[in-house]
Amino acid sequence: MEEKLQFMIDELEAAKAEKRYINIRTMHSPADGWMVVDGKRVLNMCTNNYLGLANHPELKQAAKDAIDAWGVGPGAVRTIAGTQQLHIDCERRMAEFKHVEASMLVQSGFCANQAVLPPLVGRDRATGAQDAIFSDRLNHASIIDGARLSGAKIIVYEHCDPADLEAKIQEHLPNFRRGLMVTDGVFSMDGDVAPLDKLYEVAARHGVLTMVDDAHGEGVLGQGRGIVSHFGLEGKFDVEIGTLSKAFGVMGGVIAGKQVVIDYIRQKARPNLFSSALTPADTAACMASITYVEQHPELVQKLWDNAEYFKKGIRDLGIDTGHTETPIVPVMLGDVKLAKAFSAKLFEYGIFAMALGFPTVPEGAARIRTMNTAAHTREDLDFALEVFAKVARELGVI
Ligand SMILES: *Cc1c(COP(=O)(O)O)cnc(C)c1O
Repeated sequence: MEEKLQFMIDELEAAKAEKRYINIRTMHSPADGWMVVDGKRVLNMCTNNYLGLANHPELKQAAKDAIDAWGVGPGAVRTIAGTQQLHIDCERRMAEFKHVEASMLVQSGFCANQAVLPPLVGRDRATGAQDAIFSDRLNHASIIDGARLSGAKIIVYEHCDPADLEAKIQEHLPNFRRGLMVTDGVFSMDGDVAPLDKLYEVAARHGVLTMVDDAHGEGVLGQGRGIVSHFGLEGKFDVEIGTLSKAFGVMGGVIAGKQVVIDYIRQKARPNLFSSALTPADTAACMASITYVEQHPELVQKLWDNAEYFKKGIRDLGIDTGHTETPIVPVMLGDVKLAKAFSAKLFEYGIFAMALGFPTVPEGAARIRTMNTAAHTREDLDFALEVFAKVARELGVI
């Protein structure tokens, strides 16, 4: 083996020895309520496919039609020759859906955060003036990476704590050129919801830019329109980040907000300038998905009914579900070895649900994170609860 590759071998071996190595399972069927995972048919409680749209016939048909009409690839970045009428139409539909002035599509939600932060805040090379990002302690990795890329100073405030946000702004903002507050809407490890009204009030009072990443709130909160709608703050946030890969069931990222912000980001965002546009199939499926979500509020209701039913069932077993307020239901077990054994037994009995441990969640707070979906029936959930009870008894949890 070549000497220069040795560090990778060492790290992979260390990860295996310390049980940090990620064993990646292979799906043998489309994302749905039930899936064939590593060759076994199981009830799926792992995907972000909240509304069960990832394998929906209407969306698939929209994608197929778009391929016939527009081909398979855009052939260019958006700013050269990659902006197809489809993109423009989808962006207008998304802006209407979110009740904002404008929106733009990028390749993914992850990419949206890399696209948007560096143009808004950073460090001025000529003058050395620096900006500040006020960021929730538990913000998503893609926000953290976008923040680092920007060159702005990252100032962390305590999780969902508007008072601490205000203290941090008062302490630090005078030393910086401008500030930006950014938070996840729904936090994906616990399923808790940012106090967006209070955070907005603090940020607005101090004149800092406001940004929320609603990846787990769209299709879920606010009758499906997301966290901003849930709090009645439509049109107020400077930037709303979204993804089309979770509740919408497809692929792609969204940057939405005021017209001037979107005009500016379009000119500046490097993924818009240097990475090709979303494919016609994805774009058309996204547009069909927005329409479908608008026309089927009963799907959002079913998602919540399922989540409440499952959550109550787990609590009735005497197991803690943390402080979730959404269809993300963490089944709190504490010990990481226990959580992994629990997940393995669930799989053996026909349920696919992942164990999460340190460093994804705090030490001693290991859990099985279950994601509810409108794709499950009541019978599916009864089966799930039966299996959770059986595994909990076998492992001495109850
Ligand atoms: C999932 C997630 C993303 C990434 O979205 P993709 O479209 O999958 O890249 C970004 N931000 C948050 C908060 C997320 O939960």
